[in-house]
Amino acid sequence: MAGNQNAMAQQQKKVGAQFGGLAIGSGRPVVIAGPCSVESEAQILAAAHAVKAAGAAALRGGAFKPRTSPKSFQGLGEEGLKLLALAREQTGLPVVTEVMDTGEIDLVARYADVLQIGSRNMQNFALLKQVGWAGKPVILKRGLAATIAEWVSAAEYITMTGNTQVILCERGIRTFETHTRNTLDLSAAVAARELTGLPVMVDPSHAAGRRDLIPALSRAALAAGVDGLMIEVHPNPEQALSDKEQQLTFAAFGSLMAELGLLPAGALASLDACRQVIDQIDDELLALLARRMETVQRVGELKRVTGMPVLQPAREQALLDRLTSGAARELEGHDVRTIWQAILACSRRHQQTAG
Ligand code: PEP
Ligand code: MN
Repeated sequence: MAGNQNAMAQQQKKVGAQFGGLAIGSGRPVVIAGPCSVESEAQILAAAHAVKAAGAAALRGGAFKPRTSPKSFQGLGEEGLKLLALAREQTGLPVVTEVMDTGEIDLVARYADVLQIGSRNMQNFALLKQVGWAGKPVILKRGLAATIAEWVSAAEYITMTGNTQVILCERGIRTFETHTRNTLDLSAAVAARELTGLPVMVDPSHAAGRRDLIPALSRAALAAGVDGLMIEVHPNPEQALSDKEQQLTFAAFGSLMAELGLLPAGALASLDACRQVIDQIDDELLALLARRMETVQRVGELKRVTGMPVLQPAREQALLDRLTSGAARELEGHDVRTIWQAILACSRRHQQTAG
């Protein structure tokens, strides 16, 4: 096997620059981003424009979805592929989408720039062989419980067809841990890259299964020297038809790209560009405030039932103290107090007039 892997590494060096228009292996990390599933025209177009503005190199989105339960959303199928093609037309971003079945390879390859083999199909050998023949770059995700050697052998099924444009993607493996959806195995990402010479990406979204861990895992993956990241991003994660716990909002994705130093040159150079980002953040603030009000209303009902007055000075004081002490560097404690005093006044009014 070592001989084969060396041959694969040699061969790879010659074709490094291709990968469906992704400058992968060029030294600058490549980020592929987009929703878990393509759900509607409005959803995929909004996601495509937002991830492009934040510096993503390609758009992802599942049209054929490998769902654990047959009762879960299975994807829009060909309609989803057409929407991805429309998003590419509007943004110029190459499109990455999963193919699950040998019978669908031709169809998916007509629309996609890069074909994805999902974790659950990593050892579907008929699919691996035939996807190689489609002549498109392939992202091969690591199986949920595959060893590094099994993953590398699966890649060889594809490269054996003469298609050496394979990108490996570590997306977390099954372990005894239940706090996270899977366990991100960075050592496998690094080892597979060394063994094969193929570019390796990391998908922190499916690894963690929860959006709060994605920035730290992304930083860790890039520090380990991988070639790129695949990140799930949705216009409204709460409403997503699949993987809603792990998808980032546009604003969170923008912040992450800024933190990773991957915002495109000029992303915040013009007044218009900055205002677009501010509009995105304000939309999210508004949605969060609406959710806060829903909860406030419920608190109002509980206060009424238990005969508590609406105004609870000690609770308000504790809330303000907590927020002002935890205020981020960019915010003065005094400003945080002013903003939340206004929010609390609205909340009280809401409780007084409700019911
Ligand atoms: C996906 O990327 O859409 C996906 C289903 O991931 P995985 O195959 O890694 O579970
Ligand atoms: Mn997903």
